[in-house]
Amino acid sequence: MNHAAVGRWIELGDGVFARRYSELDLSVGLVLGTERCLVVDTRGDAEQGAEFAAAVREITPLPWTVVLTHDHYDHAHGVSAFLPCAVWAHQACWDALQDVEQVRDRMSARVVESDTELDLGGRRVLLRHPGVAHTAGDVVVHVPDVGVLFAGDLVEHVPGGSFSAESFGDDTALAGWPAALSALLELDITTVVPGHGEPTDPEFIRTCRDILSALLTLRRAVRAGELTHADAVARSPLPEDVTLAALTKPVA
Ligand SMILES: [Zn+2]
Repeated sequence: MNHAAVGRWIELGDGVFARRYSELDLSVGLVLGTERCLVVDTRGDAEQGAEFAAAVREITPLPWTVVLTHDHYDHAHGVSAFLPCAVWAHQACWDALQDVEQVRDRMSARVVESDTELDLGGRRVLLRHPGVAHTAGDVVVHVPDVGVLFAGDLVEHVPGGSFSAESFGDDTALAGWPAALSALLELDITTVVPGHGEPTDPEFIRTCRDILSALLTLRRAVRAGELTHADAVARSPLPEDVTLAALTKPVA
């Protein structure tokens, strides 16, 4: 298989890569140390995971560790292709990942605490849970020496803007999302890899935070009976379908 035809590598810094897919506009990642590499997310099923694993092997022969930014299938369900290995995720992500139960005996499941530091050999990587936002178990991956942040779906950089209706699911906590992005803005970063879309810069995180804050204000007004859904849609910075998903789906 010609893997270049499926996905596309982007080198963001020395030994730090994003891999882009046209399907779902997905972005996954790879961070190289001298002793091991870290794979950020795994794509959506065993076949897609196998493609990504083979693409990683075209870059490096180093043993890998996997980190899952959250439990959504398009990020997590390719994990079987990387086993056996250690897999890092937030406890809430593990709790939600019933679908990978059948492969759990081949993985060494590790739980990301608020800040977890990994040593890849000559390179330190920080795994961080910035709070309950896109899901209860969001994890971001910070590579300090090159100023790169893999943000998972806390940041989505869709063509022409930010967020899609799929950004706001039944498991989303809209109320916590702006604060989670504020926490990311305190990091010393120059490049942000979103869960979907092209790599961008920290200023885009600020834009996303302001959009979410505006949505929260609209939602409060709707809940208080001060605005109708139609009023909120008219005042929203986002398209109608995205706004309605944000107003109606999140758990908090
Ligand atoms: Zn997601």
